[in-house]
Amino acid sequence: MKSKPANKIQDLQFFGEFGGVNPSISDSSTYTFLSANSMSETFEGNMEGCYLYSRNSSPSNLYLEEACAAMEGTEAANVFSSGMGAITSCILQLCKSGDHIISSRTVYGGTYAFLKNFTPQLGIETDFVDITSLDDIKKLIKPSTKIIYCEVSSNPLLEIADIESISKIAKKNNLKLVVDNTFTPLSVSPAKNGADIVIHSLTKFINGTSDTIAGVVCSDKDFIHSLRDVNDGAFMLMGATMDSLRAASVLKNMRTLHIRIKKHSENAMYLAKSFEKDGIKAVYPGLESHPSHKVFSKMMNQEYGYGGMVTIDVGTLEIANKLMEKMQEKNLGYLAVSLGFYKTLFCTPGSSTSSEISEEEQEKMGLSEGLIRFSVGLDQDISRTYNGIKECLKELNLI
Ligand SMILES: *Cc1c(COP(=O)(O)O)cnc(C)c1O
Repeated sequence: MKSKPANKIQDLQFFGEFGGVNPSISDSSTYTFLSANSMSETFEGNMEGCYLYSRNSSPSNLYLEEACAAMEGTEAANVFSSGMGAITSCILQLCKSGDHIISSRTVYGGTYAFLKNFTPQLGIETDFVDITSLDDIKKLIKPSTKIIYCEVSSNPLLEIADIESISKIAKKNNLKLVVDNTFTPLSVSPAKNGADIVIHSLTKFINGTSDTIAGVVCSDKDFIHSLRDVNDGAFMLMGATMDSLRAASVLKNMRTLHIRIKKHSENAMYLAKSFEKDGIKAVYPGLESHPSHKVFSKMMNQEYGYGGMVTIDVGTLEIANKLMEKMQEKNLGYLAVSLGFYKTLFCTPGSSTSSEISEEEQEKMGLSEGLIRFSVGLDQDISRTYNGIKECLKELNLI
């Protein structure tokens, strides 16, 4: 039987200093040494289990890192103060001046802006590709290519990357496959499907309470150590370190992730099916009408469902705005960016989270201005929620 990612978190056993059921929080930025000799050895990186300074690592962060690695089935992980901290450190660790990246054209707006506007200044060039076309990916590979970058389920179009097939291309060409799994934690385990590095914005589903910004990189020990290297590690030197108090808090939230993801997925499937039944153009990987429904179904961990993200297209930005305001008035959710909250959150990505992408390019990738992205909440009674949404749709003559 395939090992289940949530069990792996469940099976971790961390006690607090006084036998507490929660591990103690290490509230220190620096650590004492009993002998002066061990300090220099720790600096040289050859003293496992010794702490030097909390930008490099701290006991509380290591607990959360162990849980993240257990979830993704990787050897190790490193937590960051944000998802973007994780993404940028990871990319800069792997790519130097003269290197080339192949990225999905539908990625998080911040990632897109980093690859499009920021890294070219450092001599790192990126080609953006339709990630569902394996042939297009192959055509873009050149001697300077170092990584293929994508999201399992892309933001905001919910295009699905076939991780196993892309990883075969990556391995054959000696490239690293870097996958952002923020939209589909537990539902998909990219490392098991061949990804070399898995990134999350912990800000979203994994923390789940919309009270912090946080991120993680999960990979093999060598790569995680390279990020922390005091001489040339992008994490260590750029300093996007997570605070220990926050690491303890995220770890506690993470323990209920499996229950939450099941509910998010169940509710999202209900809404997606209802929209589709009522003739509203809905995109959800769980729908058979989704072009990559089969690809997702093949790689998913069945019991966690197809995730909590659904999009609908209502034609124009003006109608989308009216609909979102109505839904918020009826307390069906909040008009807000981000995802993974207990309340449903909705926004129009074209003018918010993906506004870094030019209008022309948005059109090319099929991101229409009337697209509304839903992060479906943990509503106890989702049919009641849909009835409320239906009233709004009727008031706007959309159905
Ligand atoms: C939010 C998000 C990020 C960025 O994470 P932060 O924690 O906001 O820095 C990256 N990728 C995806 C898919 C996201 O949704």
